[in-house]
Amino acid sequence: MSSYRYVNFLWDEAKASSLDPVGRLVYRSNLLGSDQRITNTGGGNTSAKLRELDPLTGDPVEVLWVKGSGGDLRTAKRDNFSSLYQAKLVGLQQVYAAKPAQGLKSEAEDAMVNMYFHTTFNLNPRASSIDTPLHAFLPGKHVDHMHPNAIIAIAASRNCEQLTREIFGGEMAYVPWMRPGFELGLAMQELIRREPSVKAIMMGQHGFISWDDDDQACYRRTLDLIEKAAAYIEQRYAAKGGDATAFGGPKYRSLAPAARAATFAAVLPWLRGQVSQHKRFIGTVQDDDKILRFVNSADAARLAELGTSCPDHFLRTKIKPLYVDWNPQSEDVAGLKRKLAAGLDLYRKDYAAYYAAHKHPNSPAQRDPNPTVVLIPGLGLIAWGKDKSESRVTAEFYNCAIEVMRGAEAIDTYIALPQQEAFDIEYWLLEEAKLQRMPAEKELARQIVIVVGAGSGIGRETAHRLVREGAHLVCVDLNASAAQATAKEIESTYGVGIGVAGAGVSACGPAIGLAADITDRASIRAMLDQVALAYGGFDSICVTAGVFVPSDTTGHIPDDKWALTFNINVTGSYLVADEAFKTWKEQGLPGHLVLTTSANAAVAKKGSLAYDTSKAAANHLVRELAMELSPLVRVNGVAPATVVQGSAMFPRERVIGSLAKYAIPYAEDEATDSLVAKLAQFYADRTLTKRPITPADQAEAYFLLVTKRLSKTTGQIITVDGGLHEAFLR
Ligand SMILES: [Zn+2]
Repeated sequence: MSSYRYVNFLWDEAKASSLDPVGRLVYRSNLLGSDQRITNTGGGNTSAKLRELDPLTGDPVEVLWVKGSGGDLRTAKRDNFSSLYQAKLVGLQQVYAAKPAQGLKSEAEDAMVNMYFHTTFNLNPRASSIDTPLHAFLPGKHVDHMHPNAIIAIAASRNCEQLTREIFGGEMAYVPWMRPGFELGLAMQELIRREPSVKAIMMGQHGFISWDDDDQACYRRTLDLIEKAAAYIEQRYAAKGGDATAFGGPKYRSLAPAARAATFAAVLPWLRGQVSQHKRFIGTVQDDDKILRFVNSADAARLAELGTSCPDHFLRTKIKPLYVDWNPQSEDVAGLKRKLAAGLDLYRKDYAAYYAAHKHPNSPAQRDPNPTVVLIPGLGLIAWGKDKSESRVTAEFYNCAIEVMRGAEAIDTYIALPQQEAFDIEYWLLEEAKLQRMPAEKELARQIVIVVGAGSGIGRETAHRLVREGAHLVCVDLNASAAQATAKEIESTYGVGIGVAGAGVSACGPAIGLAADITDRASIRAMLDQVALAYGGFDSICVTAGVFVPSDTTGHIPDDKWALTFNINVTGSYLVADEAFKTWKEQGLPGHLVLTTSANAAVAKKGSLAYDTSKAAANHLVRELAMELSPLVRVNGVAPATVVQGSAMFPRERVIGSLAKYAIPYAEDEATDSLVAKLAQFYADRTLTKRPITPADQAEAYFLLVTKRLSKTTGQIITVDGGLHEAFLR
């Protein structure tokens, strides 16, 4: 039942009626959050004033359930909402009134945030949002505060108040921009006292808020108002010439998709190195038609300089993006890098000047001065964040900013938040306190690690080990589906975060699975380019891929099998290192390469001539590469001894062959797991530590070598062989 064109009516009363009142609030929130035209990721909040039984007295009492601090409406669950005594919240107005030196952005106002804890109902531990008073002081039982692009376009127009009246009549009142908090709640309450028939409020340069005593009607009102705003904008946008004349019309043309991907891949690792001098960032690329229309336009430079409007957007996108005026038709990649370098330099100086001009005596220290959004004509947008999800959220916010500017410029003139207001959000002490409360970053946070051979065995185990420490994982295998399966395991364990933006492979989570043949340089390059598009670059590589080709029954190894063994175990590692080093040099950030050799490299024996010799070569390859790649990349090797469990190199037939060779009793119909355990124990008994060696034991060594824990070690081999005295290195 929908006459909506710009939003979707998704309410299913059958579903809603099966839920309890808080469940209905979660349901409404998830519906609203699922549409980026209604609110942005992490933005907006919802509430319901519900009758509950007081756990202390058993008496019914009115409780405000309101989306708490952090979280996101699309993915919110019951525990993302705080529950507060409504009467006590309203009572806080007396507490506030008694404070000296109150007012907008005063310490007294900020201090109210901690008072919300005193109004907690039923020990709910969820911290309250700074928007709580908006919900508490408005009259409706159900309240939605959203950040829709269409309404922010009006909110960010020079003549917002007049446009609000023209579009919504008396239905929507207007408050000018105020930093969210207690004062904004009081201002809204006062406004409703004067205009009791109003059902919504336009919040200048921010968003809107609307309410109703029925939850479905509240949802419908939110949709109605967004629909009205969007219809008004689109009618004027079309009348002005639509897409063809948007943002002053096109100045440049987009590169074709393949050329865009190639240019992005050529420039991203370098750019990541440039913006990651203080802390490393993870990238997201977006190059859809809407983005390209903006970056290619005549007005892009002017509008980008104005920065974003919604305070929510602004925290991620920073005061403004970096736009480079590069001509995709007449300039090359080298020219683009020169312009980006000059642009970054200027951006950092602008940022320092902005900080110096607007700081207060008690402001937190200046933060990273690099842009989080970079706009390039012909190519699109690059967003940077501390992890993949954050960079996708940042990309989404600039998508929103572009839509807001498109709407505002269609109906009026776009205006940005005054710089002091922007600063007072970015360096708000409450925001700083939130940052300080965040758990410390994990050891491999902000790192992208490629594991070659991640489809099985040691590689798969290493991928799991590294992601636990916060790394982003590129799982690479000759077998694409095995690589993707490992990436999927990681994402189903750790989730993909809340970000939704990103184009193609860049719309990924903390892990991706890619195919590559390490004996083919072009295949390695194609894989590294995909990594650049997905994350912006990479920090470390672990090569765990290898092959063991057994001799034939006479103990002889055919020439082609000899060649294959060397091709994979030696040349493959070399090609990965050599091709990756080009990217490492572009990026200019220290990295780690870990190759896999073997205890066999140091122990001569019968039956594994090709394998053992190839691994001896791999040992020396580690040392040679350590020389070649220094000082940027540390190169080390891990030398496992016969890890049978989970290894692709030990299929059932090989296990049986080995059991027979060592005269270990077994039955032909015995389960593979049991055969593997027997062989593993046999190998274990030959070691000094007497216990089977597992992939997890190996993964620990790769982990150590890609962290800073062994930061002065390069050109070395770490053996993880249980203590094989024959393999002791001399
Ligand atoms: Zn808001």
